[in-house]
Amino acid sequence: MASTCAQCNRAFTAAELTSTPDGMLCPDCAPEKPKVLSKVVITALVCGFIPFVFHITSSSSTTVNGVTALIYRDYVAISAGALAAVIAIAAVLPALKAGPQRGPRVAAAVAALGLGLLQLVRGFGLT
Ligand SMILES: [Zn+2]
Repeated sequence: MASTCAQCNRAFTAAELTSTPDGMLCPDCAPEKPKVLSKVVITALVCGFIPFVFHITSSSSTTVNGVTALIYRDYVAISAGALAAVIAIAAVLPALKAGPQRGPRVAAAVAALGLGLLQLVRGFGLT
């Protein structure tokens, strides 16, 4: 069965047309689907991966009441992890309104958030 695109009126088979709020559109007229990995999420993921490669660490020990505690800090992990977490939170909110792409986009943003939090934990020497 032949159908026509609601925008350019060219004839297509029904399988080629995409249902949109503007009617049945051909691949040329249909708006591109938003990418699952938005630039914001990719930025957050990159920030989250940087501490796996670079480290600026310090460790010192303090003695309180005869108990010696080792204090370890990785400043790259703390700063990049915090940045990744903040960017990821900013990405979760638009992803929640992303329509059909919502599930994977929210999952990608939450994964970036988890990576940022992991780096924070590593940066404070808690692992
Ligand atoms: Zn068209």
